[in-house]
Amino acid sequence: MPRGRYAPSPTGWLHLGNARTALAAWWRARAAGASFVMRVEDLDGPRTVQEAVTGNLEELRWLGIDWDEGPDVGGPHAPYEQSQRGEAYARALSTLSAQGLTFDCWLSRKDLREMASAPHGRAPVYGPEQRVANDRVAARKQREGKTPATRVRLPPGPVTFHDGLRGEVRADVARDAGDLVLRRADGAWAYQLAVVVDDAAMNVREVVRADDLLDATAGQVALYHALGLAPPGFLHLPLLLDAGGQRLAKRRGDLTLRALRDEGVRPARVVGWLAYGLGLLDAPREATARELVAAFDVTRLARHPARLDADALAWIRAERRLDSGGTPR
Ligand code: GLU
Repeated sequence: MPRGRYAPSPTGWLHLGNARTALAAWWRARAAGASFVMRVEDLDGPRTVQEAVTGNLEELRWLGIDWDEGPDVGGPHAPYEQSQRGEAYARALSTLSAQGLTFDCWLSRKDLREMASAPHGRAPVYGPEQRVANDRVAARKQREGKTPATRVRLPPGPVTFHDGLRGEVRADVARDAGDLVLRRADGAWAYQLAVVVDDAAMNVREVVRADDLLDATAGQVALYHALGLAPPGFLHLPLLLDAGGQRLAKRRGDLTLRALRDEGVRPARVVGWLAYGLGLLDAPREATARELVAAFDVTRLARHPARLDADALAWIRAERRLDSGGTPR
């Protein structure tokens, strides 16, 4: 039985790009008659906005998405909050350590940045040069009372995975990313490990998410292999961009579902426009999420980013409800 999931990080309110991913994942699962899992990725304690943990679930319900398992409804794979799943991550780490694949990394982010000749914005590759530097500083940092991060050294060579839009994708983790962090020096579990352990434990057979995570996928697939687990299939969606061509970002406070709801926007307008942007409708029209399950068709999915320009926003904001307390302009 196929199972789908959406995994919000409660670092703020969900924006329209998050909504687009959540809807696509939900449509994909529901169109296949699959169950749907909601998992809260609240791994990063300092970045978690407590109000957003349940707030994000409310935003998704407002869109018309439902789930069979999740933090608020329970299920056979509970807990569904990553902050509660540390034991599972520790077990996976032991499995990797028992194979001699993990090591202590004493290099700080600053150390790595200073060594990096990587192009701006990309995490530097952790390779032979970094390993040598790590060995050089280990004893001193230990004396200074520093704590190390834990990294995994994955077997070299290419990994392949299946992507619903791209077909077979091939990538080389050692070359593109190097040794991955599994646990940060402050004790926080890394997304790369948690997402693999959880999707496997929750029996998610296809991961639908946005293109910004495509580069992380090969590392995750290599981790599945190292843990002796079968990787799922993937479907990476093109991003939703703003009028200026930038991807939406929570920290900019971009167009959150909550703000749209508060100004009286109809969820049917949000859903209908996002379905149109995904290529599932020929023109935007008001629709409920459930109505569009039957319209979901992978072969229709757009291969290029959607642009949320002024016309699109005007369409979404039209016909606002006056009884919501919002003040339509
Ligand atoms: N929690 C991640 C995010 O909100 C998504 C992770 C994933 O889908 O693998 O960006």
